Amino acid sequence: MAWTPRSAEILRAVAAYQLAQEALAADFAARWAEVLATVEAREVASSLDELSTQYAATVRESAAASRVLSIAFYRLVRALETGRVIGGPGYRPGASLGSLWADFNKATGKRTGSGPSTPLPVDTRNPFPAEDLAREARRAEESFRREVADRVARHERERAGRGSAALDDAELVAWEKEFLESLKSGSAGAGGMLVQDGGRDMIHNALQNDPGAIGYYRKTDASPCYFCALMASRGAVYKSKRTAAFGAHPHCHCQAVPIFSRRYQLPAENGKYARLWRDFGGGSLADWRTYYKGQAGRSKPKRPAE
Ligand SMILES: [Zn+2]
Repeated sequence: MAWTPRSAEILRAVAAYQLAQEALAADFAARWAEVLATVEAREVASSLDELSTQYAATVRESAAASRVLSIAFYRLVRALETGRVIGGPGYRPGASLGSLWADFNKATGKRTGSGPSTPLPVDTRNPFPAEDLAREARRAEESFRREVADRVARHERERAGRGSAALDDAELVAWEKEFLESLKSGSAGAGGMLVQDGGRDMIHNALQNDPGAIGYYRKTDASPCYFCALMASRGAVYKSKRTAAFGAHPHCHCQAVPIFSRRYQLPAENGKYARLWRDFGGGSLADWRTYYKGQAGRSKPKRPAE
């Protein structure tokens, strides 16, 4: 008998998943801010090695949680959409909608749904790629260099150029404080992207390896930038041999949602952005950006997609 996709439940899971990934990025940012708070502005330059190690470790832990969450989410959405369970990490024999919801609830730390304990038919393949910790560590190192080490070097040069005598104390303190804030924001954004990329890459790769998957769509956060709103307005991206990269950016909390059935349903916001795009009527990306920013009731993009 044909399975009817449980759209309402899927949309609840999608909303909970996006929020949970966003929370992992926020948790990363908070823990990284704690690390930075232990260092005085003038000590940052001499603490770079130690900070780099802590940055990578914090990314690693949060990205691992993001991956576990994304696998529970993928398996749940697939089962709700097709009535079948897929194998791989975290698969347990006798899996049911009840056990998949329980796994998902556990990964999000919130009870979003529940289901019957009737075992579902199983597709035994494992579509989930092994984690590539070396690549992740390299990316964390690059982010740290760009967002922390390079900024610190520039700041040191500026400080030397100014000569502290030229500044009264209050001005100097404000200058140092501003520097630390920009350092914190830049590195938190870049790290948060790496954290959520744990889950995004997992889903992106899993659907390439899963004959049951047909594509994905973008679920945005509550106030996406113009770029993400445009991507979301396009709806489903059907998979091909070369499915385009997801295109996340720092301070972006968009997630990739896998699709397994042509009868999938998009979240309301995706439809809202599609209408906005139609009303816009076409033009350059810069025109769209202006138009999108000008829409009443819309909060400013948190950061342009550089
Ligand atoms: Zn985004």
